[in-house]
Amino acid sequence: MNRMVYHGWISVVKTYLKEKGIHISVRRTRLPPDVEGDCTPVAEDFYRIRISRDATYDKACEALTHELGHVLDGCLHEHGPSWGVSYSEAYALWAKFVEACNEQ
Ligand SMILES: [Zn+2]
Repeated sequence: MNRMVYHGWISVVKTYLKEKGIHISVRRTRLPPDVEGDCTPVAEDFYRIRISRDATYDKACEALTHELGHVLDGCLHEHGPSWGVSYSEAYALWAKFVEACNEQ
């Protein structure tokens, strides 16, 4: 993964959520060493996702996929069964995106 793939993935995630009426902001920032990303509800159907500025592009893409799972689950900060379902949806979108990248 590189910078272009990372930004491409952000834009795919934003478009995907927009179709569901959900908006997000994504920014790179300093997070604790053991945290690669987090998400916070800011307003109704608006979430802020933060990705560690120390994460490699591979890890940043992974973290965004993980946080997309949380956003689809309402950012409950849990990794229970409903998050699992949402994460599967997020991962399926990621797999489709990677496939499309490889076809180019
Ligand atoms: Zn999580």
